[in-house]
Amino acid sequence: MGRAGSAVESPQRRDIPLAGYESLDAEVPVLHAPRLQHKAGEVRGYLARGYGALAGILSIEPPAIVALLVADEDWSSAPRENARPYPPGLPYFTRSVEPPALVLPEELSSVFRPATSATLPLTVWHELAHGFLLGGEVVRTPAWLGEFLPQAASAAVARRAGLPLEDHLSRIDREPGFTVRGFSGPAGAWEQMSFQNLLLVLGAAALAECGEGFLRRIFHTLWEEDDVVDEERAERLLGDALGPGGRAWLASRPEF
Ligand SMILES: [Zn+2]
Repeated sequence: MGRAGSAVESPQRRDIPLAGYESLDAEVPVLHAPRLQHKAGEVRGYLARGYGALAGILSIEPPAIVALLVADEDWSSAPRENARPYPPGLPYFTRSVEPPALVLPEELSSVFRPATSATLPLTVWHELAHGFLLGGEVVRTPAWLGEFLPQAASAAVARRAGLPLEDHLSRIDREPGFTVRGFSGPAGAWEQMSFQNLLLVLGAAALAECGEGFLRRIFHTLWEEDDVVDEERAERLLGDALGPGGRAWLASRPEF
């Protein structure tokens, strides 16, 4: 990042435009506003946990990724795919810079519910899992599958890290009025959060039922797909990745 000449080599990518930011070295370096040094150290810890755990869970060489911890006043300067800034307080992963970057706000938006000690690490691991998935070629899938993978992966990292999720999961509304397959975006922030929370519940249940091996299988399956994965095929691929009885188990889940 920030290398002179990189714009010539790959014109679609731009240098990270956050002047004066400092870097915390790590496998996933954290570029942060100087006044966010303490928070950057906390985030670096979550990233280190997630990076190693995801590489192990998925059995892959992890992709190069950087993290940007962006101060509120710099949010509109953070790298992104679109011209207009994204809503404040919402983390995202972007391939508009090289290496690709996980962009984190200094504080998560209040739409992130439930607010527990697990909220920030789960959110960091969710975006990191998007980064791992996008380290390979990925075809279009139904929205529920595309977001189920990072939610289940973040729950798997929590298991490995010894972060208890019971309290967090117990605060989630299990009946928001739709299922993950029935959810139709785009929707308001509240519905988006409810959708993500249902996927987290489903991911944690899948891990308890089937173990974490299904994550490796479904990630690798999607990397090998050549065509758009439609609804029917998405259900079949995930059910098969879950293992024997996986399709029936999935169909029996109230969130599904
Ligand atoms: Zn996501």
